[in-house]
Amino acid sequence: MDPFRQHRVRDALVRLGYVRAQLVITGFSVLFSLAITALLLRDPALSREVRIESLLTAMAVPAMVAPIASHFMLSLALELHAAHAALAETAHRDALTGLFNRRHFMEEFERELTRAARTLHPLTLLLIDADHFKRINDEHGHAAGDEVLKHLAHTIADAMRPYDRLARYGGEEFVAVLPGATLAEACQIAERVRSAVAERLMPLQDGTVLRVTVSVGVSERYPDDQRGTAMFDRADSSLYRAKGAGRNRWVA
Ligand code: GH3
Ligand code: MG
Ligand code: MG
Repeated sequence: MDPFRQHRVRDALVRLGYVRAQLVITGFSVLFSLAITALLLRDPALSREVRIESLLTAMAVPAMVAPIASHFMLSLALELHAAHAALAETAHRDALTGLFNRRHFMEEFERELTRAARTLHPLTLLLIDADHFKRINDEHGHAAGDEVLKHLAHTIADAMRPYDRLARYGGEEFVAVLPGATLAEACQIAERVRSAVAERLMPLQDGTVLRVTVSVGVSERYPDDQRGTAMFDRADSSLYRAKGAGRNRWVA
């Protein structure tokens, strides 16, 4: 069986679930066995007892054997499906923060861009960059920097709406796409992120407690944008201005 068909069969079994898939497989086995036996019993010379006995056997054997045989197949199929799902989830995540990674974000962003172009709903982007992060590494070590990045990821994620998509864009930079948010709403969310980070005390394993700040560049989709890179470029130049204006702020 070609791999594509094999996936379709497996997905169909997974959708049915273990019990219903067992019933379907056993039911088919019994019907198939009965049909073959009925064909073999066409000889008019065969007695009624032989017919009944043969049909009962044709029903009983697959009804007993099919659940055992399909148990192994179904268990494997369900385990394989769960392993694939877990692997896909891991492939979408950044190992340090658990946020979506850049590659997955770009796929989601492209999808949101297409949707926004079709529905004409607003779409906005936040580029969030930790301020003077190099200093944190220099003064407290790289491991402390990693801890701060985890705190940052949590704090930023908590400040987002449930349907926003947040990712670690790379290094000490995060990115979020805000479906349906106007530029004014995106600025409110940027302020929520900024103040949540600035107010958050970040305790480290060695007992020190740090504070960090972030700068945020905000941009919106323009109707005549041909590509998503235009939105990124605008958010990037806003971020650059936020840094230049003294950091710990957002610029749209
Ligand atoms: P700015 O306010 O202008 O953004 O200053 P900055 O120091 O944050 O910016 P810069 O780009 O000069 O430095 C970023 C630092 O982030 C340097 C790099 O060592 C650190 N960094 C990037 N990725 C990681 C990481 O995964 N873990 C740790 N601990 N540090 C990281
Ligand atoms: Mg930085
Ligand atoms: Mg940076």
